[in-house]
Amino acid sequence: MPDNRFVSVESLDDGRIVRIRLNRPEARNAQNRGLLVELDAALSAAEEDDAVRVVILGGAGPMFSSGHDMGSSIAVNERTPGPDQHPTYRINGGTRAGAERQMIQEWHYFFQNTRRWRNLRKITIAEVQGDVYAAGLMLIWSCDLIVCAENARFADVVGTRLGMCGVEYFAHPWEFGPRKTKELMLTGDAIDAHSAFSLGMVSRVFPTDDLPDRTVDFARRIASVPTMTALLVKEAVNQSVDEMGFYNALNSCFTLHQLNHAHWAQINDDKLPVAKEDAGIVSWRSAPAVATAPKDRA
Ligand code: ZN
Repeated sequence: MPDNRFVSVESLDDGRIVRIRLNRPEARNAQNRGLLVELDAALSAAEEDDAVRVVILGGAGPMFSSGHDMGSSIAVNERTPGPDQHPTYRINGGTRAGAERQMIQEWHYFFQNTRRWRNLRKITIAEVQGDVYAAGLMLIWSCDLIVCAENARFADVVGTRLGMCGVEYFAHPWEFGPRKTKELMLTGDAIDAHSAFSLGMVSRVFPTDDLPDRTVDFARRIASVPTMTALLVKEAVNQSVDEMGFYNALNSCFTLHQLNHAHWAQINDDKLPVAKEDAGIVSWRSAPAVATAPKDRA
């Protein structure tokens, strides 16, 4: 097993279940490049291993993930030329310019990797506690099943905080439903665990302290299904939604996402590819806490 800096890997039940966790609790499991590359390697290793039947994807600490790492020193150093630059910023479009660089880099490290995880040849279960924001949703949506703690909440705040039409892997209408997606993207509000359960997005809501153990119990049930059956159940559903347009819609919405970045890069003097405060956006650094969408108040 390679040395991981940003994820942890735990083998359970003689290797039948693997639990991979984002392991930057001090940064609310914000997803920097190194974390995403390590996560991809860990998921690929679990996929290769024929002993593994179920993969649990969780996050260390009080919160599953705050989304992409926008500004930690680690993330800044990773994308800045120098000794700490991550090597993936020098390949896969990283040396190109303008919208081309943005598009190819995001395709590899935000979009195609998420689709690869969604198509993993193992059953995957997201184990979610606390808040899940923006790109955190991409990780849990790439999993086959989602279980969460009572305190879980889900929000994509990139519309209201970055002027973006959603994250790169735009599964929102398929997970929240079309109208709920519009509401949540235009308000930046969150839904709680029970709303997510009602939507069918979440399969179980466990007491927060019990989440790790109950998730393993749930994984054991899934691991007892013959592997061929489990994989074909997954494929039957995934191929059905692909026939319904999921695959093409993801591609289309990724292109819209890149148009949105290009717009802000043209507007901003420093070419920042997201909206700033002078466009009427509340800075993500100083924005108020994310509210849970109420039923009876604006
Ligand atoms: Zn983007």
